[in-house]
Amino acid sequence: MLTLRPEDIRLDCQAADWRAALEQAAESLQQAGLTAPAYRDGLFQRETQSSTYLGNAIAIPHGTPESREHVHVTGVRVLQFPSGVEWHDGQRVHVLVSIAAQSDEHLDILRQLTHVLDDDSVGQRLAEARSTAEVAALLSKAVVEARLDAETLCLGFPARDARELALAGAARLRQLGCVGNGFVAAVAERELARLGQGLWLATSGQGVEIPALALATPEAELVSGGETVKGVFCLAAQGDAHRGLLERILALLDSGAAELSSADAATVLARLAGESATAHTRLARVLNAHGLHARPAKQLVQVARRQGIPIHVRLAEGGGAAVPTTSLTKVINLGARRGQQLAFSAEGEHAAEALDAVCRAVADGLGEQVMPFDESRERIVPQADAAPAEPLPDNTPHPGVAASPGLAIAPVFVLQTPRFDYPERAADPAEQQRRLQSAIVEGVAQLEALESEARGGEVAQILSMHEEMLQDPELFEAAREGIHEGRSAEAAWWEAIETAAHAQEMLADRLLAERAADLRDVGRRVLGILCNVSLPEPPETPYILVTDDIGPSDVARLDTRRVRGLLTARGGATAHSAILARALGIPAVVGAGERVLTLADGSELILDGERGRVTPAPSAERRAAAEQRLAERQQREAEAWKTRFEEARCRDGHRVEVAANLGNTTHAADAVERGAEAVGLLRTEFLFMAHAQEPDLDTQIAEYREALDALKGRPLVARTLDVGGDKPLPYWPVPKEDNPFLGLRGIRLTLTRPEVLETQLRALLLAAAPDAEGTPRPLRIMLPMVKDVGEFRAARAVFDRLVDEIPPTERATDVQLGVMIEVPSAALLAPTLAPEVDFFSIGTNDLTQYTLAIDRDHPVLSAQADGLHPAVLRLIEMTVAAAHAHGKWVGVCGELASDALAVPVLVGLGVDELSVSARQVPLVKARLREFGLNEARAQAELALGQATSEAVRDALEAR
Ligand code: PEP
Ligand code: MG
Repeated sequence: MLTLRPEDIRLDCQAADWRAALEQAAESLQQAGLTAPAYRDGLFQRETQSSTYLGNAIAIPHGTPESREHVHVTGVRVLQFPSGVEWHDGQRVHVLVSIAAQSDEHLDILRQLTHVLDDDSVGQRLAEARSTAEVAALLSKAVVEARLDAETLCLGFPARDARELALAGAARLRQLGCVGNGFVAAVAERELARLGQGLWLATSGQGVEIPALALATPEAELVSGGETVKGVFCLAAQGDAHRGLLERILALLDSGAAELSSADAATVLARLAGESATAHTRLARVLNAHGLHARPAKQLVQVARRQGIPIHVRLAEGGGAAVPTTSLTKVINLGARRGQQLAFSAEGEHAAEALDAVCRAVADGLGEQVMPFDESRERIVPQADAAPAEPLPDNTPHPGVAASPGLAIAPVFVLQTPRFDYPERAADPAEQQRRLQSAIVEGVAQLEALESEARGGEVAQILSMHEEMLQDPELFEAAREGIHEGRSAEAAWWEAIETAAHAQEMLADRLLAERAADLRDVGRRVLGILCNVSLPEPPETPYILVTDDIGPSDVARLDTRRVRGLLTARGGATAHSAILARALGIPAVVGAGERVLTLADGSELILDGERGRVTPAPSAERRAAAEQRLAERQQREAEAWKTRFEEARCRDGHRVEVAANLGNTTHAADAVERGAEAVGLLRTEFLFMAHAQEPDLDTQIAEYREALDALKGRPLVARTLDVGGDKPLPYWPVPKEDNPFLGLRGIRLTLTRPEVLETQLRALLLAAAPDAEGTPRPLRIMLPMVKDVGEFRAARAVFDRLVDEIPPTERATDVQLGVMIEVPSAALLAPTLAPEVDFFSIGTNDLTQYTLAIDRDHPVLSAQADGLHPAVLRLIEMTVAAAHAHGKWVGVCGELASDALAVPVLVGLGVDELSVSARQVPLVKARLREFGLNEARAQAELALGQATSEAVRDALEAR
């Protein structure tokens, strides 16, 4: 956004001719520190190529692309010449807006200046302005238009009435970050306005961040309350940004909007842009390196004028109005970037030839040398209505959320989402269906190949879930219907995917968000095959992957031989993806903000997954220090590895068991190989998530037996199904909740389906029957999210009944039933729970979340959700005291158990078992050997006496 400050504007300049004026412009850019002296030559050279006169007494001198290397900082300087200067093209200039731009930011400046050109009086008013504020006000009027594009459309939505459609539109705008919850609530409450022809309007200005318009159309035409419903517009209003759009909707109603309800996205956008149904249309991609700036725009206008018939143009992806291609200011105002598609339209018998001529000119580069656009490698730079993210300063640590421990030093690879380009319609349904079928087959083959490379584990389970999704007959059927309605294989497939994904999101919002992401993920795989677009190729050499956000399946696909670390702009530390990154041993920092996306590909980065920070372009000293820490860490790991099978004991012999957390029973053998003395937490929900439907009794027995066999007599602590919150179960949809973490999750949810709990308990008990020699298989079962003894008793009743019912020879004989302590009330009430349970296992991830009231997935706040907070430590102290008073044991299975600083504190608080990710087992055992129980108690006391988690960490580090 061009925001002019008074110091950017110089009034009352005088110059004998245009050269003298341009010299002054160059000097003012240099004096402001924006450019080096050599930029001056670039300004002059640019004028010899063509005039930078814009219109209305304004010229916009800027350097040639080659001179951009002399720009230090992007910016503008405005010089006012009240008596005017004759420019070299004969025009009279009163204002020079001189631009120093490092890339094509000047396009945005141009876009904002074009409004000045619409008003003929502006030139004179600029010449006469007596204050810098007046000049700034005349030049700076921002043009805000409500957002409308393919993403704001929800077409063919399975809704039962107009209200559901309005909410689908509102939910879409919320997903896109245009509105907050307040908007959705307002739309839910307000009456809809009838527009006529079956169209309705829901509107609110509440909670609007970015003005936008969504359109939701029903799967099939609806009649609700006696009224026809063909579509509902959902408008997020702000100021008068939406005026143009509303006018276009009204114009559309005048000309007939009947076809809107069954139209595809491209047609809807075309109609809303003012294109008639009878118009001829063509698409042409902008190939010019710096987009449709003044010079190529001028050429385009000239070619369009030569055709002798009205031709309109708009951005194909956006919802902006089509403008006459003969208007230079309006064409520039489109702000078209390299890679964006222009949609041209014209009517009448010569329309087709005229459009061909215009598209040819665009493809030829409009007077500039151009290169083809490669969607798989290039990204269209978004229109910068908001200030672009500031690049990260070199050699300065930048904070994020520590998500997976470890240190990485490597060049970055910034992953951009690929773009897919395809025709919406195709005339040959049989051929389209064949293409889709073969793309799905290839997609399945790709997944199978990846699965076999993954060799079991969470990664393989996710890939296998994707495979099942891909073979879902309903998905194929939905796409086949689209094809038979005339859609191309690509369009029909993507629509089927989007509809299914939206349906998931709408059913339970965030609970099922992950499943929707997985659906889009498999959808993109097939789309890539159909469009022949491959994902951007990462380098052959080791790198740190930088991306906006990453889904679990993306983590699963990471090539662990080359990916040294993972850095994301969004996301929290205890999300599914972060758990996978830890399982794969990839150091990760997440939620570090969008500025990380400005990192230059190939630039070096230090990523510290323990402290949760990254340092771009480190100095030689900082790099050397990081390398030393890395070497020390590797040395520590190597030594810990050698002694991994020794019993876990403190230096003075005090025994603390070290166990492994698993999400997958096939990993049990690996955990044992890493020195685990037990499995301290089996997250059985991952087993449920890896299946398209609830796994039956036999499937569950086989899975649990696999872990028990691998453990060879070591205990297995299995947690009953813990879904809800951040872990949705696709086939067990939960009604939408505003606060899923405070809603139906863990034991609360399971108790609503006692038959599921019963099958799981039965499977565990049967799987843990003594082996053929009669050797027991120790089984510990624990219940998640218990808030008090009432929930425990309800589950215990089912458990006791099963123990009575199953003959002892067929079931576990060494079995205990315990609870997780992860809700503060359970810790506070531990004295009432302890007499009845067999053990406690403290889930510090959730206990911290609920004690500090910080969402564990919060992209910004989760960094503060530190389990070493004294409030959490006091709850742990109370829990241990209550358990030991009744002779029961206590484990800790949250992430805190592997925090090197926390280990002695937990031991000092009396914890008997630490359960950590399998990779951490050798290190935690080694850490225990560094101190004795007395030292641990002293550290626990020190920590309990502090007031904040920062104070705890400082005090422990200083000791
Ligand atoms: C915890 O909350 O600490 C825990 C171990 O459970 P999960 O992370 O699976 O919620
Ligand atoms: Mg938990």
